Amino acid sequence: MDSKTKILVIEDDKYISNFIAVSLKKENYDVYISQSAADGLFMFSSYHPDIILLDLGLPDQDGLEIIKELRQFTEIPILVVSARGQENDKIEALDMGASDYVTKPFHMGELMARIRVAERALALRGVNSEETIYKFDYLTVDYEKRRVLVDDAEVHLTPLEYKLLLLLIENQGKVLTHNYIIRKIWGYEAGGDNKSLRVFMANLRRKIGKGDSGCHLISTEVGVGYRFLGE
Ligand code: CA
Repeated sequence: MDSKTKILVIEDDKYISNFIAVSLKKENYDVYISQSAADGLFMFSSYHPDIILLDLGLPDQDGLEIIKELRQFTEIPILVVSARGQENDKIEALDMGASDYVTKPFHMGELMARIRVAERALALRGVNSEETIYKFDYLTVDYEKRRVLVDDAEVHLTPLEYKLLLLLIENQGKVLTHNYIIRKIWGYEAGGDNKSLRVFMANLRRKIGKGDSGCHLISTEVGVGYRFLGE
């Protein structure tokens, strides 16, 4: 029986892909390497990986196009690993459905941590759909009764705050961009105005946080968006 997590690395820089492959194998992952977009898509359909690590600057196609293509038929976690430091590329990749983003040069430890977040999200995906009660750490959400508990005390969320919390939980581990959240919660394009989202997020954090230590369940991705339970 093979229960190893399969990771497809689409990266044209051989030095980097080797480095990633060696490190991942050491951690007991199955690794497949592709050096172009076309080969990457071919390997995706041949080997059915669990997670994709994707470089944006590929010789035959822009990595963003691969995300767009894959998202038409799969929800596989796509971790973008790219040298492009520009916030716009990062946000565009996430808006197109990438799950997370690591900028080169990166520490292997950081990449491993992001992979583990993706794995946990995968493991939860199957479980969550059947559950009516979500529990994590001190937080409990009872979907049927629409109740939210911090430890055992009920907290009162406005309908929009509740919707926001559910959206974050559904996408656990994934970075959600400001625009994505605003579109989902308010139903329109933000056009760069994130002020109301910031206010809502601050209120939600305060309500589901614990005393002075605040809420460590939601992390801020500066200039990009938010992530539920980003470790
Ligand atoms: Ca490249």
